[in-house]
Amino acid sequence: QQHVENIDDVINLLGQIKQCFEEPFAVQGEEHSITATMGVAVYPQSGLDADTLLRNADVALYRAKEQGRNTYQFYTEGMQDREVMRLELDKDLNHALANDEFVLYFQPQLDLNDSSINSVEALIRWQHPRRGLLPPVDFIPLAEESGRITDIGRWVVMAACRQLAKWQKGPYSNLRIAVNLSGRELDDESIVDHIQEALESNGVPASRLEVELTEEIFIQNIEHNLNQLTKLHKLGVHLAIDDFGVGYSSLGYLRDFPVDLLKIDRSFITDVTERHDDAVITRAVINLAHNLGIQVVAEGVETHEQLTFLKNHRCDVIQGYLISRPIPARELERALSAGLLEIDTPVGS
Ligand code: C2E
Ligand code: CA
Ligand code: CA
Repeated sequence: QQHVENIDDVINLLGQIKQCFEEPFAVQGEEHSITATMGVAVYPQSGLDADTLLRNADVALYRAKEQGRNTYQFYTEGMQDREVMRLELDKDLNHALANDEFVLYFQPQLDLNDSSINSVEALIRWQHPRRGLLPPVDFIPLAEESGRITDIGRWVVMAACRQLAKWQKGPYSNLRIAVNLSGRELDDESIVDHIQEALESNGVPASRLEVELTEEIFIQNIEHNLNQLTKLHKLGVHLAIDDFGVGYSSLGYLRDFPVDLLKIDRSFITDVTERHDDAVITRAVINLAHNLGIQVVAEGVETHEQLTFLKNHRCDVIQGYLISRPIPARELERALSAGLLEIDTPVGS
């Protein structure tokens, strides 16, 4: 756009372009809808020559895509640094699997019915050669974008099954492992076969493995996902809904999908003993789940007061820093055998 007097002119143009895509396009008698995602670089703030402007518009475009598409972003300084870091990280991610740089940490879940640890959640970490131990937020979104998440997810499942096989022989044979699978990973047609192979090659019964999925998979690509989850469930793998309550309000999927566990999101638990509304929601979710034959896990439990509340309201399992942070397998074994994870749970009233 030439002769821009005012940034509003640009915004106006962006709106017009967006409008062009609102109506579906007819291609060979069929209607197709597409959305437009736009990156904007403005002379002279975003660059002094055409090459720089185009490159920076592209950087802004990338950011707009990250934010969910069908939107626009103006280039700002600092985006460049982030972009360079992103590209570098993506390159490193390429070697991470081959170099065996991923590790699983395990966070124990306390069963409130018998005050024992029967399951742990596997949470991935990346031992980056230069940047140290990276949490999943630093690389999982990137891996989802580039598609590398498929291979990472397969590694997670295999590593979890290997760990289960090790535990099977000793005093921790009762432990189950829950792994996280994103919607993107479930798209992979062969993921169920891969899970079955990982279980079989390690000689681990399917009932030792749990898969945690967020609510998005129950509203997108429903037919495919229902099919995938039904297959998984038939294998004997337990299915859990992660971050329950923050996603979508459609509860129909609880009826249609084979769900064993529901994990109430940490955002409801944080103030459950202080805020009336959080307490009401938490109690309602527990009752709803129980009436459907689904067990409930509360996430992010950090205090004894929260524990008491949850126990009194018949929550089945709790997970959070009060019991333990996510820790490496060795440390978990040590903590379990030293009885460090046993917490006095009050008698339910
Ligand atoms: P999530 O599945 O909801 O995992 C729980 C997160 O909450 C973990 O963060 C855990 O460390 C943290 N947490 C647990 N208890 C407490 C607590 O009491 N207080 C507070 N403040 N936080 C607590 P982490 O390990 O950084 O994982 C973040 C997210 O990354 C996970 O959220 C999950 O969505 C994703 N993720 C982790 N591992 C994998 C994986 O192997 N595959 C995929 N696709 N995603 C993964
Ligand atoms: Ca989870
Ligand atoms: Ca969660």
